[in-house]
Amino acid sequence: MFTQRRLFGTNGIRGLVNKELTPETAIKIGAATGTFFKSGRLILGYDARTSGPMLAKAVISGLNAAGCDVFLAGMAPTPALQYAVKKHEMHGGVIITASHNPPEYNGIKVIWSDGIEISREQEIQIENVFFDDKIRYVSWDKIGVANDLPGVIEDYLKAVEKHVDVVRIAKKQYHVVVDAANSVGSLAAPRLLRELGCKVTTINANIDGTFPGRLPEPRPENLGELAMAVKAVGADLGVAYDGDADRSVFVDEQGDIHWGDKTFALVEKHFLKENAGEKVVTPVSSSSLIKDIADAYDGEIVWTKVGSVTVSQTMKKLRAKLGGEENGGIFYGPHQAVRDGAMSTALILDIMARTGDKLSKLISELPRYFIEKAKIECPEDLKEKVLEKLIEHTKRLNVNTIDGVKIWFKDKRAILIRPSGTEPIYRLYAEAKTQESAEELTKKYHLELKKIIDILRK
Ligand code: MG
Repeated sequence: MFTQRRLFGTNGIRGLVNKELTPETAIKIGAATGTFFKSGRLILGYDARTSGPMLAKAVISGLNAAGCDVFLAGMAPTPALQYAVKKHEMHGGVIITASHNPPEYNGIKVIWSDGIEISREQEIQIENVFFDDKIRYVSWDKIGVANDLPGVIEDYLKAVEKHVDVVRIAKKQYHVVVDAANSVGSLAAPRLLRELGCKVTTINANIDGTFPGRLPEPRPENLGELAMAVKAVGADLGVAYDGDADRSVFVDEQGDIHWGDKTFALVEKHFLKENAGEKVVTPVSSSSLIKDIADAYDGEIVWTKVGSVTVSQTMKKLRAKLGGEENGGIFYGPHQAVRDGAMSTALILDIMARTGDKLSKLISELPRYFIEKAKIECPEDLKEKVLEKLIEHTKRLNVNTIDGVKIWFKDKRAILIRPSGTEPIYRLYAEAKTQESAEELTKKYHLELKKIIDILRK
């Protein structure tokens, strides 16, 4: 790790605590970040991981040494910290979190003054300072200070509530079960829901950085307990957050878990009903569902590379108001152009209250797709050549090559073929109106890919 002059991955700096991400490294990252911000004012906070306070102290030390003043917000959801950076007109922020990764990991995210993660170009500037030892330590009389910043979560929840009809939601007296993964989601969501007049039941809501309840990735296989709890207490809704509460996955009143593309499509539909002609930003990995809704309700899809920072940066550039990912990340621009678990929860309740419908009905009204996934081994050194060949082979089709190769067919079938960023494989994700058709499409391109790889291997 941290080789080839790279610190930042697709979502900040990540590493195994005290193996890759040690206090020494964290001090140096803090000092390099401080050098980048040139003696600015920065907010700092962390999620519930056991290593959070330790790494926070190290990063603060580095930031202060480079002349930055730090405002310590403590433990809070990532979107609450991002909102605080903007509200308090800071130069930026640093968030100690590894999001959905297991408890032995941690990470460092750097936030710009608008609350959005810094761009890849800005990350490179920090990496250059770090690897070229260009840290600018200030003289003894210019060393930064660290102050506490209370009230970050209260301010954040007030801001979220401005974007929904609180009175209408409260009248419904919804019962909601929250699964906070023993992390920072439990500091914001239950309180938000009570302010929205809901009855709240919580599971995995005590803060525990070992994550004893479930893994912090809100994948359906980790959410059985939530689904059971929703049915057991007869709740209207269940919601699960990831480790830093920027992503949310919902369970309907029947205990069915819905993956993020469905809830994003639901938010998209109701957003476009009132904002026809607006842009919707989403990675090419998203379902055709998102495109169908945009077509039906006069929206314009902007496809991006996979990764939440790219979605945020694209929204910022185009002043787009809505973005989303299939993994449960919803970006609501009028609030902030970043993934936001509490905002997503409020939006879903707002739709339920507005329509008077249950979540299961709202989801059942969306177009339905069947998905088939596959993978194929491909040596790292061939990945780029394989992609070139694949682009050449598919150029006559309706194709987008911003990230891998995504092909849309006339009969509502689509396939994304993309090299893995971490393993020597290519992944295929096909969608169609029947399972057989999705399987057939996967088989066809699996074969095609195999031919290309075999020829290039020789
Ligand atoms: Mg996250």
